[in-house]
Amino acid sequence: MQKKPLEGEISVSFRNPLPNYINGEWCASRTTEYLDVVNPATAEVLTQVPLSLASDVEAAAVAAAAAYPNWRRIPATERVQYLFKLKFLLEEHLDELSRIVTLECGKTFAESKAELQRAIENVEVACGIPMLMQGYNLENVARGIDEMMIRQPVGVTAIIAPFNFPGMIPFWFLPYAIACGNTTILKPSEKVPLTMQKVFELLEKTGLPKGVVNLVNGAKEVVDAILEHSTIRAISFVGSSPVAQYVYSKAAVFGKRVQCQGGAKNPIIVLPDADMEMTTRITADSAFGCAGQRCLAASVAVTVGEARHTFTEAIANAAKTRVVGYGLDEKVQMGPVITRQSQARIEQLIQQGANEGATVLVDGRSAKIPGYEQGNFVRPTILQNVNPRSELARTEIFGPVLGLMHLETIEDAIALVNSGQWGNMACLFTSSGAAARQFRYEAEAGNIGINIGVAAPMAFFPFSGWKDSFYGDLHGQGKDAVAFFTQTKVVVERWPKTWSRQF
Ligand code: NAD
Repeated sequence: MQKKPLEGEISVSFRNPLPNYINGEWCASRTTEYLDVVNPATAEVLTQVPLSLASDVEAAAVAAAAAYPNWRRIPATERVQYLFKLKFLLEEHLDELSRIVTLECGKTFAESKAELQRAIENVEVACGIPMLMQGYNLENVARGIDEMMIRQPVGVTAIIAPFNFPGMIPFWFLPYAIACGNTTILKPSEKVPLTMQKVFELLEKTGLPKGVVNLVNGAKEVVDAILEHSTIRAISFVGSSPVAQYVYSKAAVFGKRVQCQGGAKNPIIVLPDADMEMTTRITADSAFGCAGQRCLAASVAVTVGEARHTFTEAIANAAKTRVVGYGLDEKVQMGPVITRQSQARIEQLIQQGANEGATVLVDGRSAKIPGYEQGNFVRPTILQNVNPRSELARTEIFGPVLGLMHLETIEDAIALVNSGQWGNMACLFTSSGAAARQFRYEAEAGNIGINIGVAAPMAFFPFSGWKDSFYGDLHGQGKDAVAFFTQTKVVVERWPKTWSRQF
């Protein structure tokens, strides 16, 4: 029997259908098509999200373009005052926002809170824009001539977000975009549109001028309209690699600045001299945190030499004992995956791995959580003896599934890391400084962990990604975001004292 909602959950209610937020007003999309927004743990329909139309994007672009000339003229020191207000509002509403993330996305309350804390950190860093946005100059590049580089905003920008971090990922971009003097249009994932509804209510409370931030719900039609709109100058995208590639190439055709963070297949290497208790605990958190739906999740563990036996037994035990259930239940360590389709795809990939010759050491398929029988649960799963050339070893699963491989040397393990198409994250567990240095130097990935699983980098670092995990030049967060949301202007000046006599 399906359980009643947990305490605290019932106080959250949503408009139905969800509105967009354009030019400082909450407004209905002109669409007639809607999708259910579903709690992945209970299958409860929370509300409906509109599949907005190109005309809704047009309205948002007009509002953002109209707001831009005044917004960019407001001094950066004044623009960031809105972000200071936002930071305090986000902190005040942290528990409520975290509950919403868990309701729509399924992750545990603690995981939701952690992602929102990283969102707040991005707001804090963007409050430093008056310093971060500064250019540089040199007097007397020639006699009496000065030259300077100044940074100016780009104009109207857009942000397209994935489902797995509904609270954090928009903040890799939005605070930097507006603090730099741009206006913006955000499209959240249609699977998890609720968190940004609440965030936009808070943005409204800051008193931001109309049109500076706009929210358009929807899916592909909204993305295509953003890509094709001549007013929108820059696009930040996070999602799967095929869509990232599509957005990147289409944005280039339309002459836009673009940054696209894509998918991943992240390896960790365990050397025999690693602290096995710590390695196992961290690997389990990395592989099964957020039910494996993280672009930085460990997906393959490669044991080297003698590490094979101790690690295999310990990680299998960690997988079996992980507490799976509803994310609002305090005891729970891992929630459901996002949709039924996602659950079916993950289970099919596990079967494919078995068909390709791997052994299913811990089988998380057909999970039934008492009280949440309708939820999309897959328990932690471990496959052993995964063939490095198999589909399972190369496909992003995006679920709580860890494949185990075994190699004899660190050189072989690094070669395996570098042979893949992805480059988001790679980790090494060892007590050897020399091995750690070799790995840090040679591994082809944008995020490296040494004796630690990689979480989203702190806000003052770029969220790096290499190879098919990223298309573009400048990443989200920190100084990269400032460079992405500004264009440089180089000015050379001469002011002769005897101007009138010379000309
Ligand atoms: P997705 O690619 O399905 O969707 C991302 C966004 O693109 C959504 O807003 C969606 O509406 C839109 N979209 C989907 N299909 C589209 C299409 N055909 N044309 C135009 N737009 C389309 O990704 P997802 O399932 O929401 O998120 C999971 C993926 O995101 C994983 O691959 C994960 O690795 C990746 N991800 C990467 C990072 C990173 O920093 N590299 C971070 C988080 C998630």
